[in-house]
This record gives sequence, C-alpha cells and structure tokens, in this order.
Amino acid sequence: MTDRRGSGQATSDRDSHHADELVFAALGGLGEIGMNVYLYGLGPADDRKWLMVDLGITFPGANEPGVDVVLPDLRFIRAERASLAGIVITHAHEDHVGAVLEMWPELRAPVYCTPFTAGMLKAKLAEFGSREKPDIHVVAPASRFDVGPFGIELIPMAHSIPETSGLAIRTRAGLLFHTADWKLDPDPLVGQPTDTARIQALGKEGVTALICDSTNAFRDGVSPSEAEVSRSLAEIIKGAKKRVIITTFASNVARIKSVADAAEATGRRLVIAGRALNRSIQVAIDTGYLPPDFEYLGPEHFNYLAPEETLALATGSQGEPRAAMARAADGEHRDIKFGPGDLVIYSSRTIPGNEKDIIAIQNKLAGLGCTVLTDADGLVHVTGHPRREELRQLFDWIKPKVLVPMHGEIRHLQENARLGRAAGIADVRSVLNGELVRLAPGRTRVIDEIPTGRYYRDGKLIVPDGEGSVRERRKLSAVGLVAVAIAITPRGEVVGDVDVALDGIPEEDATGELMEDLVLDAVDGTIESIPARRRRDAELVREAVRRSVRAAVDRAWGKRPIVKVLMNVVPARG
Ligand SMILES: [Zn+2]
Ligand SMILES: [Zn+2]
Repeated sequence: MTDRRGSGQATSDRDSHHADELVFAALGGLGEIGMNVYLYGLGPADDRKWLMVDLGITFPGANEPGVDVVLPDLRFIRAERASLAGIVITHAHEDHVGAVLEMWPELRAPVYCTPFTAGMLKAKLAEFGSREKPDIHVVAPASRFDVGPFGIELIPMAHSIPETSGLAIRTRAGLLFHTADWKLDPDPLVGQPTDTARIQALGKEGVTALICDSTNAFRDGVSPSEAEVSRSLAEIIKGAKKRVIITTFASNVARIKSVADAAEATGRRLVIAGRALNRSIQVAIDTGYLPPDFEYLGPEHFNYLAPEETLALATGSQGEPRAAMARAADGEHRDIKFGPGDLVIYSSRTIPGNEKDIIAIQNKLAGLGCTVLTDADGLVHVTGHPRREELRQLFDWIKPKVLVPMHGEIRHLQENARLGRAAGIADVRSVLNGELVRLAPGRTRVIDEIPTGRYYRDGKLIVPDGEGSVRERRKLSAVGLVAVAIAITPRGEVVGDVDVALDGIPEEDATGELMEDLVLDAVDGTIESIPARRRRDAELVREAVRRSVRAAVDRAWGKRPIVKVLMNVVPARG
C-alpha cells in the first residue's frame, strides 16, 4: 500500500512537469517588420516537439553599413533540432523564406512549401547556389499534411504573391490559426482569394489561438482590391504619350500580369528589365500563374521601340543601387534610357528606411524630364496586409480564445492587440521576439525567455552583430582613420621615417595647417618625450603615440578619429 501510494505521488508530480503545453515564440518578426521566424512547441517543458513557421531575412538599416542582409540567430532551435519536426513556409516573400537556403544546414528539418514558393527557392538555388540543398517537400495549396504531432491545413490567403497560405494547426492541445500575411481581396487577379468559408468553418470548430498579421493595424477601412489597381494602372497608361516605365516588387505576379494586360490593351510592347523580375516571371509561367506563351521583350529592345509603343517593367522600386531603375536614372544602364515626357510609375510602397534612396532616384528622373507617379498620386499600388475592418472581420469569424499579434513593430502589435480587445477577445497576449508564451492550457502566460539576435551577411561571410566589425565601420564612417607606422629597434631608436596615412579626415585645419603635419609633429614630440630606456617598451610607445595623435587631431578638428599605430621592431643598427 505504502509503496503504491508513494509511486502514485511520484507519478502525479511528474505529471505536472509533464503536462502537455502548447507554446509559441518568435526568433524574428515580433517587434519588427521582417525576418519572420515563428516556433510552435507541443509537449511538456522537458520534451517538446517543435514546428517552425517561416525562416526569413530582413534588410540592413542605415546604421548597418556594408551589410547585405540580416539573418536570424537560430541558436535556440539549433540546440533543439532533434525535436524540430519541420519548417512550413507560408509564402515566397524574402521576409518569410529568405534565410532558408543559408540557414537550412543548421537545422536539417524538412521544409514544406507550395509549388510557387518551391519554384522561387529552386530558381534562387540555381542562380546563387548554396552550401547544401534543403530537403524541400512540395505540398499543394489548401492541402493537409502532418508535421510530427502538428496537423497542418493550408488555408489560401490573398496577399501580394501567389499561394500565400495561412496555417490551421491542429494539435492535441488545441487548434491554432496562424494567418501569415493576408488581406481580404475578393479579386486578387492571380491565385486564390482568401478562403473565407474555410476560415468561418475554423471558427465553428473552435480556435484556441489566433496569431495574426499586424502590419496595417493603424489603417482604417478595407484595402482596395488588386483588380482596382489593375484598372487604375490601365487608365493611367492609356493617357500616356511617350514611354511608360513601371517599377514594382518583382514577386508581385498579379501586378506583372496587370501591366502585361495594360500593354496589350494600349498597343504597347512589354519590356522586362531586371533579373529578379525574369526569375519570378519564369516561376509564374512554370506554376501556371502566367500563361505559357506570356510574351515580353528583353531590355535590349527598349531603345529600338517607338516611345509610344513602349511599356517597361523594371526592378528597383526600393532605390536599390544596382537595380535597373537606379542605373537607368544615372544614365548607366546599357539599354534603358529615359527621356523628357516619359512616365515613370512607382507601383509599390516605400519600405521604411528606403525613403532617401528612392527620393534621390525620383529626383534624377525628374531632372531628366520624366513625370514620376507614386502611390501618393493615384491608385497605382495596394497593400497586401489587412486594414482594421479586415482584422475585425477575421476576429468575428474566428472568435479565438487568444489573440497573439505578429508581423509588426511594437506599435503595430499593440494596435492589433487593442483592436482584438475591443472585439471582445478575452485573452490578448502581445509579445516580442524571444518571449516564450504558453498558449494552452489555461490563460496565456510568458513562461520563459529564449535567445534571439541578428547575424549579418557581410560579403562572403556571416558574422554575429555583436562581433563589432559593423559597429567599427559605423564609427569609421563618422570620424575617419589615421594610420601611423613606426620602425623601432629593441633599444628604442626610431629607424627611418615615420609613415602616416589619413583616410576620411579633412586635409587641413582652420588655419591652413596640413593635418598630416600635425599628426607627424604629434608622433615625433611623443617619442622624444619618452625617456630612452622606456622607449624599449614598444607597447608603451604605441599607446602613447595613439593617444597623442588622437588628441592632436581632436584639437584641430573637434573630432577624435580612429588611430592605428603599427610598431615594427627591427634589429639594432651596427
Ligand atoms: Zn508577405
Ligand atoms: Zn511579411
């Protein structure tokens, strides 16, 4: 009896530690728009199975000079990778799929995505290569499949790229709906509209937690349809007298189709400029989103065509310096040259952080005599994310017990949370990257903190953002560099001339004295001031010279440069 009671107690203790929990955390995407990486965990705290949803990148800000892309820090899930059942990709935007090729070798879990997303991944793999080919499982839109203990149902959602899929995630601890990026567009032109019937059915089935896109939580009303943008673009193109050049996000297949249709309707020939556009057109043809005979010309035809017969689609809507728009605006594109009277349409939104680059190009275009039209001037672009009325509609259909806002900066997440509370959702939990939330059972609670962070792709290398190289570069960009080379004998005698090089520093001070002379004087004066015996300590000399050069430049310039002193100890003379 005693024994049995004892073991019974032990079991119930263990049960409380082993209670089945459903948890959620983000390694990116909560507190930023970009680098989406979400994790769902099922099981007791010491034995969870994980599902990853999306594995994206983000682009560097102005304070991250020289960085090509920003990648998520996966150390948490890498340590758990034996329990990572799979990675489901919701759609082919870079902020959701951009890190797959680079990071997959760290995780090696099966990747599930629809044909269009798989096609985009394969096209990038063919163009850029990768360390290792990810294990990609192609699943049909609207299909159901299991990833470990997670039953996944893809729910078609309208967005600005084909085959965007929300995820109904069925688990023994409850049903979740992860919206992905979405809007309620009844006429998205390409691909399926949001499957509102399935969403309402999920609501009836009973959704424990809704994890929902917050990007446009501040915008009132309902976002216009892609079909309305198409009609508006066609109208504007019809009124143009000379060339029309349109720039948009390369992956927006519906927009590409609208532009092609407008070309056909107005008797213009479609010219495509930019590799990213070619890539997504090819994938869209392969997956049936553009017709097999989709017709367009390469950029080499641009200048042979009569202006009134030309409609070009070019990459570079975000001011990217190497894309077709930037090069053409600078007159450096081999084929694309703009002239007075040409109409340039930015069929895109300005992603925060890119304003200066975009405006600089638009000014150059204006200088060439082009008319520049943006989404501030007419309906030439529409968002792919839900506005407030669409969010309210979704809350009403799903009626979740729990709402977790995702895909937003802190202010967007908080606004989505406010909307959810106002809609009567009892448990609204707004969390940031790294906060592990228990979604079920019981009320939600942050139960742990997991490590997150950023890595930089910097040329051929991937470096952690804490390493400092990018921070140093930021400093260099503001204060320049002084390099001093000194050859010294073990006895402390300076051999030959001291060499200095100044980079990014004004040539002379306010009185006309050369900065280089000021530096040389500081070096000589410092060395002379050190007693001969102490000069044998090369490290002491190095540090003294560094300090005095920094101080001398500061006195003359009012800024302290980075100073590098290279000490070369050479054999004594004689
Ligand atoms: Zn998206
Ligand atoms: Zn997104």
